[in-house]
Amino acid sequence: AKEKAQAKEQERREAIFNAFSNFYEQEYGHERWQTLIEALKKPVRHCIMVNKYSNTDDFKTRLPTLPELEPLSSFVSIPCFGIANYNANTTEEQRFPPPQKDGTGITDYYILDAGSVLATEALDIQPDDRVLDLCAAPGGKSVSILQRLGEYGSLTVNELSPDRRRRLRQVLDGYLPPKDERINVMGKDGTKWYSEPEQYDKVLLDAPCSSERHLLHDEKEFEQWSPKRTVHNAERQLKLLKAAVHSVTVGGLVVYGTCSISSAENDKVVSKMIRKGKIPVEVVKKSWPIGERTKYGWIILPDMTDGWGPLYFSILRRTG
Ligand code: SAM
Repeated sequence: AKEKAQAKEQERREAIFNAFSNFYEQEYGHERWQTLIEALKKPVRHCIMVNKYSNTDDFKTRLPTLPELEPLSSFVSIPCFGIANYNANTTEEQRFPPPQKDGTGITDYYILDAGSVLATEALDIQPDDRVLDLCAAPGGKSVSILQRLGEYGSLTVNELSPDRRRRLRQVLDGYLPPKDERINVMGKDGTKWYSEPEQYDKVLLDAPCSSERHLLHDEKEFEQWSPKRTVHNAERQLKLLKAAVHSVTVGGLVVYGTCSISSAENDKVVSKMIRKGKIPVEVVKKSWPIGERTKYGWIILPDMTDGWGPLYFSILRRTG
């Protein structure tokens, strides 16, 4: 009986995987999907983003213990390092030593996907900008924004989930000097962020999404996948995007991003914002050193970028 149950369970899993695979094969075409799915199954690739608020001399004394690191300066302006001679079988998580506190108690680097750093670069942060990070926990992209922000800039980070907000505070406390007055932590539902219009020069919306690559590495989570999920996510994403646009100044930028490979959660959300949103926006078209153009934005997919991503982003300027 146990074997029978196991076989049934296996069958159910396969059925979900087949539905998943068919769904994305329709979107990407047979050939591309074959290479993409293989790349998505490989371990997620990370880089080290050096924290400018920490004592980098301390960090540099640790550098010689990290052989084979290469600067990613060809595609991100914030100092980041990846594994040199990376190939898809490299698992650098095991090789990156965990971040440490410097002599003054500030954490020296953050480990994240280089695609995430690129998405925050799309915000074109100026030192004095007032920035809103609408869905911020655990805070990788907030730390990245802070690398470009100056003394007179400000960053409001928002996160709905109390647990994740706690983690976000810990991250910010760890990566910044004590009592940094530029930072404001909020816990609102971002879909209803309508209290303060035109407050921010830049808004990052790193929206909750289907995170397909993450699902592929988590059996339990994967079982939750269904095409309905992407529809539900897209609805929430559009609400969040409307709120993000409401909060930005006329002429200001919103970067809408996800780590989904579903166009329903990416370009189609942006398309709906352009066509149906009450506030006018225009797409800012720009090319980036890694990834590929989509109709309204840019996508970094691991089969074309030595393992980075997935990361989609679109830059929108509010025009009225
Ligand atoms: N930007 C983060 C980073 O780089 O570390 C990752 C953000 S994650 C993709 C999306 C976050 O949005 C999750 O932490 C989730 O709890 C939060 N979230 C979901 N619904 C939300 C809502 N309605 N308002 C605000 N945050 C929300």
